[in-house]
Amino acid sequence: MKKPFEREREKSRTRTQRRPPGRIHMNVRVRFAPSPTGYMHVGNVRTALFNWLFARSEDGTFILRIEDTDVKRHVGEAVEAITEGLQWLGMDWDEGPDVGGDFGPYFQSERSDLYHRAAEELLAINAAYVCRCSVEGRDPDQCTCGEQTSADSPQDGEAVRFRNPGGQTVFEDVVQGKLSFENHQFGDYVMIKSDGTPTYNFANVVDDHAMQVTHVIRGDDHLSNTPRQIMLYRAFGYETPAFAHLPQILGDDGERLSKRHGAASLTDFREKGFIPEAMMNYLALLGWSPEGEDDFLTPGKLIEYFQLERVRQSPSRFNQQKLIHLNSQHMENRPLKERAQIAAKYLVRAGMVDADMGEDTSSYIEDIVRALGTRFKYGEQIVEYGAHFFTEDVSIDPELHSYLEEKDVRDALSRAAERFSAADSWDEETIEEIIRSTAKQCGLKAAPLIHGTRVALSGKTVGPSLFTLVQLVGQQRAAQRIHGALEQVPPSGS
Ligand code: GLU
Repeated sequence: MKKPFEREREKSRTRTQRRPPGRIHMNVRVRFAPSPTGYMHVGNVRTALFNWLFARSEDGTFILRIEDTDVKRHVGEAVEAITEGLQWLGMDWDEGPDVGGDFGPYFQSERSDLYHRAAEELLAINAAYVCRCSVEGRDPDQCTCGEQTSADSPQDGEAVRFRNPGGQTVFEDVVQGKLSFENHQFGDYVMIKSDGTPTYNFANVVDDHAMQVTHVIRGDDHLSNTPRQIMLYRAFGYETPAFAHLPQILGDDGERLSKRHGAASLTDFREKGFIPEAMMNYLALLGWSPEGEDDFLTPGKLIEYFQLERVRQSPSRFNQQKLIHLNSQHMENRPLKERAQIAAKYLVRAGMVDADMGEDTSSYIEDIVRALGTRFKYGEQIVEYGAHFFTEDVSIDPELHSYLEEKDVRDALSRAAERFSAADSWDEETIEEIIRSTAKQCGLKAAPLIHGTRVALSGKTVGPSLFTLVQLVGQQRAAQRIHGALEQVPPSGS
């Protein structure tokens, strides 16, 4: 598996010494353990990213483990969505599906024997018991059948429950600080369900131990699972990993970010044309920040600066404007050809250009993208900005009619249109000369003619330099479009 940031990382390490050289933690092993639902919520992606950044910044190991014991349907596609999403963002894993590793298999559905052996271990020391109540429809954390036998192995239809030792669980979370829980509230929860499958809490502990995970980094929605898991670690006599529970990601209304807020999954943002390094940059800043002021961080810099200890405890709000801003900064780093390819993809999708466009169209797109400069901030935006270059029907919003209603502006526009069609050359200097001298001849300042021309050609009041815009629209087309706009908008007083 290729490691796209390896080189950049080495370079940046030798150049700056922001982090103390070498590892802070010993032999870091972390994992991202998604359930394959097929939906990559940005919160989960952020969890994966913090694990990955931590592993890479500590020269540790990043594991991908698929927690599919609960999933009844075929998980192939959902797993693909996860692996593809991570790869798109630029994250690689050292152990997991596709790459294997010494602690596999990396699908929980293939680790069933391990869970059963682990359950037997706890049964043998009376830390668990076989329960004959049907779990369905009853309190999942209390046995009511009274048949609490530890001696037997579970038979078909029997569950295995953990024998809650009572007392307290106290632990120090890397992000949340010291936390303590009364154990009795968790009851004798089920470890192995009556259908033989392990519960999340049980399989998670067995696997994290077997895979020698040193730090569990996950969303704080799992906080109440942690004492259940720590009780298990203690019952087994295992060392507990460090826990770091990441704060939630909220929408702009302060509610947990969800589909209701529009885009909430990685796919949504990919579809809109955000680029991976910007997405990674933005997600990293959701709950974490580097020591300096600078928010613009390449993947290599993120690795260099990332410190788990700097993760904030308070929830962060998803701010799409900030993502757009970062995306435009990362876009600037891409060569013109690549930005034009991104634009082309969205223009094709919008039906404005053909997928098998020729050289002329691709270089026309390149010219437009060059002219737009930093105004073109993410892929989908080109459809709005580019519409007037690729379609002929420019409709002028009634709110903008005032730009084209005045008699002297209309006269100047008609005259400019005539001079456009008759021009011998078609470059920006010529266009500028025509606009300025026409305005003068008509006793106008240049500004009203410049604004009028822009509205007539694009139906907008903002965009690239007017002379560039006219040039890109084209000589005869610009003239025709001015005439069309004057027909569309009646003169004032009519
Ligand atoms: N499968 C769990 C989830 O997707 C993993 C939680 C954990 O990291 O322990 O939420």
